[in-house]
Amino acid sequence: MIKPKPNIFLIYTGGTIGMIKDSKTGVLKAFDFKNLLKRIPELQLLDCNIETVSFSAPIDSSNMNPVYWVQIAEIIESNYHNFDGFVVLHGSDTMSYSASALSFMLENLAKPVVFTGSQLPIGDLRTDAKENLITSIQVASLQHLNKPIIREVCLYFEYKLYRGNRTTKINAEHFKAFASLNYPDLAESGVHLKVNHDYLLKPNLKKALIVHKHLDTNIALVKLYPGISESVLKSILNTPNLKGVILETYGAGNCTTEKWFINLLKETITKGVHIINITQCSGGSVSMGHYETSVKLKKIGVISGKDITTEAAISKLMYLLGNNMSSKRFKTMYETSLRGEMS
Ligand code: ASP
Repeated sequence: MIKPKPNIFLIYTGGTIGMIKDSKTGVLKAFDFKNLLKRIPELQLLDCNIETVSFSAPIDSSNMNPVYWVQIAEIIESNYHNFDGFVVLHGSDTMSYSASALSFMLENLAKPVVFTGSQLPIGDLRTDAKENLITSIQVASLQHLNKPIIREVCLYFEYKLYRGNRTTKINAEHFKAFASLNYPDLAESGVHLKVNHDYLLKPNLKKALIVHKHLDTNIALVKLYPGISESVLKSILNTPNLKGVILETYGAGNCTTEKWFINLLKETITKGVHIINITQCSGGSVSMGHYETSVKLKKIGVISGKDITTEAAISKLMYLLGNNMSSKRFKTMYETSLRGEMS
């Protein structure tokens, strides 16, 4: 019996991978996606069928926002049953935010959605785009008994496949631009493509895909620093319609114990605003109550973001706020790993 070739859908949103240099100014700009495929004839050698779609106006990912996330989710939703895997070409700057957001938006996802991009444009002699794109398509095509092996949103960059919502962009120059400090790699590309099967998400295959499109952006991200003033914090926390705050604290979730600070947070929580404690360290976890400097946060009802990344913390907050629920349920849901985003 001839094994059918997997059908892969390539979604081009923009980013360096498809950019060219303006010959006069030297500035990088997005260009027509059709040219991208022309530049990689190797794609025809892959053992899968590839179809493509492009944003009508490709963007630099610094312009990414939840409206585009819904656009990506809708493209996947309307093509979900016709394809075995999806590859999203995306600028690296906000790729971790988008991969995190899509992981929450695509509940019960049972097929691979692989985000990738590159540090150098596809036309550059030393480009990293070809390897990233070709291997991402191979990853999305991986099957066992005609069923996808990977069933989650991931990010492929420089020989590593990561869980998308565990990644952070760590370098603006190196080809190794991403890291997943709190979760092991899902796969590594060397002479062989080695998949770490034990670390893959195993969704309930009986449940149908649910696409969540309502993201609430009435949130704020506050990074603590020694010397943060009451007036600055007050003005952020008094933002009209504010519903949730990600508080990036020190180390294992510690903060100043000054009275004004704790009182301000307490008042904010009493008003119904959710406050989530995440660490500003790149790796490791919040553990409220471990030090004296975090005991009060726990007492006043601050939610623990555990070892979540800032990128995933933000999109999880927008996603849960978009799904109206009581404060008690919100805290339970936030502190539960929904898509493998926290340990
Ligand atoms: N500024 C670009 C973007 O994020 C960088 C990249 O593609 O890597 O769209």
